Amino acid sequence: MSVLCPCPRWKSASVSIPTAARRYSSVAAPPKRRVWVRLAAVTLAAAGIGAYVRSRQEPLDAHLNPVSFARYKLISREPVSSTNTIFTVEPASPADNRETYELAWQTGVWSVMFKQPQLQIGRDYTPLPPREERDGAQTESLRFLIRRDPHGEVSRYLHRLQEGSRIEMRGPQVECEISPEVNGILFIAGGTGIAPALQAAYIMLRRTIQGKSPKIHILWANRKREDCAGGISDTPKTAPPKSSWWPFRSSPARVPEPSSSLTSSVNQGAIVRELHELKARYPGQITVDYFVDEENTFISTKEIKACIESIQSSSADKKMIIVSGPEGFINYMAGPKIWAHGYELQGPVKGIIQQLGLKEWEIWKL
Ligand SMILES: Cc1cc2nc3c(=O)[nH]c(=O)nc-3n(C[C@H](O)[C@H](O)[C@H](O)COP(=O)(O)OP(=O)(O)OC[C@H]3O[C@@H](n4cnc5c(N)ncnc54)[C@H](O)[C@@H]3O)c2cc1C
Repeated sequence: MSVLCPCPRWKSASVSIPTAARRYSSVAAPPKRRVWVRLAAVTLAAAGIGAYVRSRQEPLDAHLNPVSFARYKLISREPVSSTNTIFTVEPASPADNRETYELAWQTGVWSVMFKQPQLQIGRDYTPLPPREERDGAQTESLRFLIRRDPHGEVSRYLHRLQEGSRIEMRGPQVECEISPEVNGILFIAGGTGIAPALQAAYIMLRRTIQGKSPKIHILWANRKREDCAGGISDTPKTAPPKSSWWPFRSSPARVPEPSSSLTSSVNQGAIVRELHELKARYPGQITVDYFVDEENTFISTKEIKACIESIQSSSADKKMIIVSGPEGFINYMAGPKIWAHGYELQGPVKGIIQQLGLKEWEIWKL
């Protein structure tokens, strides 16, 4: 079983790849006539040892652990929008990683680091909850929602990979613990920040806490409708708020959210479909509100307050607000994270969440 690593996260950048230790030995030069015999013997021995080591290591190579990179392979890619894709990977050779996944799922929001082998750099990505689990069985595969940054090194590398390609990853890395007492979460997600929101919902909703029904409200902001196609908010929107977290936005005319009569599951994006499935599975325990920059709808204190009141009225024992998304989004909502001595720390709560003056809420920036 792998050891989870709940330590503060290092900024993901260059990756040190362990190289095989080499041992040199000096030997006396053999007589010429026997050189070929020795060479043949050494070659055969090396080949035998190599085959033995490979046969022993092959299963371990795909064993997910936080220290060394495990070998996975890409088994499918499902486009979600022009920039976002769901990648499904599985161990490249037999490995039972299910217990490792399960331990992470029981602990909190987690990620793994993917390696870009040419540049020797790594980036963190958040597994989506397993879909097969509803049949009662965990799966060896992991799924990721990954946005292709037009100038990003690792996300572009991943989007170039063909099915069957090898991928190296290490983890799990626990980003935010969700303790068993937590039964109310407001999750404010921007873009692919919806992946940890789906994790939080999966983690909390499958826990039964003495007959209490945990609740999660998700506020999900996207720049474009294509990233959340077919998503209908549970809370009807009234007037557009005055400000956006996205500093470079133009001011387009407000486009109304599509009405439910115009959308069907056929028109729903993959992530919207998963959110709908969660709502159907846990009726009354999860709400989702969609905000789209190009439709001029933005998350404001009004929506945050409404969710907070709803969770407070359900007398949740322990309540969390989790904010996840691009740096500018987190800064706007909850203030910036800070760096100290090479570690990324939470930093004080600022932004619009600070203005609410909340007490008794655990606030976490991802
Ligand atoms: C815990 C965690 C979980 C995450 N989960 C996900 C997930 O599930 N899905 C997902 O899509 N992302 C996720 N991310 C983000 C992901 O780790 C990467 O940061 C993202 O994919 C971009 O990486 P990249 O290598 O493609 O881009 P980078 O090469 O890191 O570039 C990022 C941006 O910075 C700009 N840039 C780079 N260098 C410079 C420079 N010198 N000067 C100016 N600008 C520069 C680039 O133009 C680009 O726009 C997660 C991040 C964290 C920390």
